[in-house]
Amino acid sequence: MNALSPRKSGVQVVTFGCRLNALESEVLRERLAETSGEVVIFNTCAVTAEAQRQARQAIRKARRETPAARIVVTGCAAQVDPESFAAMPEVDRVVGNTRKLDPIQFLDGEERVRVEDIMTAGMATAVPEPKRFAAHTRAFVQVQQGCDHRCAFCIIPFARGPARSFPEETVVARVRAHVAAGHAEAVLTGVDISSYGNDLPDRPSLGALVRRLLAAVPDLQRLRLSSLDPAVMDAELLRALAEEERLMPHLHLSLQSLDDMILKRMKRRHGRADAFQFIARARAARPGLSLGADLIAGFPTETEAMFAATLAGVEDSNIPFLHVFPYSPRAGTPAARMPAVAPEARKIRAARLRRAGAAAMERFLESRVGAIAEVLVEKGNTGRTPDYAPVRLALKAPVGAIVRARLARVAGREIVGESPP
Ligand code: SF4
Repeated sequence: MNALSPRKSGVQVVTFGCRLNALESEVLRERLAETSGEVVIFNTCAVTAEAQRQARQAIRKARRETPAARIVVTGCAAQVDPESFAAMPEVDRVVGNTRKLDPIQFLDGEERVRVEDIMTAGMATAVPEPKRFAAHTRAFVQVQQGCDHRCAFCIIPFARGPARSFPEETVVARVRAHVAAGHAEAVLTGVDISSYGNDLPDRPSLGALVRRLLAAVPDLQRLRLSSLDPAVMDAELLRALAEEERLMPHLHLSLQSLDDMILKRMKRRHGRADAFQFIARARAARPGLSLGADLIAGFPTETEAMFAATLAGVEDSNIPFLHVFPYSPRAGTPAARMPAVAPEARKIRAARLRRAGAAAMERFLESRVGAIAEVLVEKGNTGRTPDYAPVRLALKAPVGAIVRARLARVAGREIVGESPP
């Protein structure tokens, strides 16, 4: 993802990567609203080499288009690979995740980058919430930071540190503030939200947090969750899915593969059977649930047969919202030292998985035609149903509102939503 922020003051924030980064970019925008002078901040992502390449490309473009601007690079890629950004002549400053949310301080002073600062300092623990989100649709609310696992391909724990959960009161207060600011929907987000509560005194699960949050904020109309780990079967979350209508019927799973040997080599904590069991239990808890999943194609040592197991599993599971990444090695991770699959084969496998996702999406959208749905309106007269189907509205509605629409027909990768009878 790469989004240019609206140009308040002379500051632009360009965001790559996950929702957590998007949330932190909003904080930066809030804090720099009064700043004068031209500044472009790149909030980078380290999850793939491609994300890092795109950041570099965007930095060079920004320098060409705004020769006088100050260019600052921060985020996870800046944290794990500061030298490569510091070596770019286009870049004025590199800031690690530790100081990322303190832009007044990091814009001050003259030094370009102090790599030692980035590498040795402790990670920031709390992300102060922005008062309101620029796009004014869904509000992302961080519930935890960091990750305690060490998946073989992942650089994130090095960029964001160990898992730390925010107390329930903090999350409730943040959601209340967003609702008061006019948000109909909140998305609970973090690096590893399935681990929520493990480090808190009573060890509340994510499901327990969801239940208490919905009870404490009755005016919150919709609640969503970012990516879940299928290794964690949270009974309270399944109950919430069954009983809480305001918890939206859409889950995104961090599957990565559906082959047992590859999952083991990835050092994931779930196997193929666990993933299927998770999906079956979630669907049983909430009929009509739609699913998304992250998958890596061509992980080191993946044979054609192993890939076929993943592809067949994905096809059988009928998952419309697939995020497929061809494997890309991250220096410093164990997977980067394993025998690689040829880049061409990774690409071909990714394309085959994406085709399976596109076919599932087509079936999903067709299955929704004829229904009346509540659509949360986003910019450009688009929106999302509770089960996350993308809708193009043929009726006028303000951004941020929830409107009833008749899902009339599929047009490309969206459903046309018309006025209900
Ligand atoms: S669970 Fe695995 S993939 Fe996710 S952030 Fe932690 S180490 Fe990375």
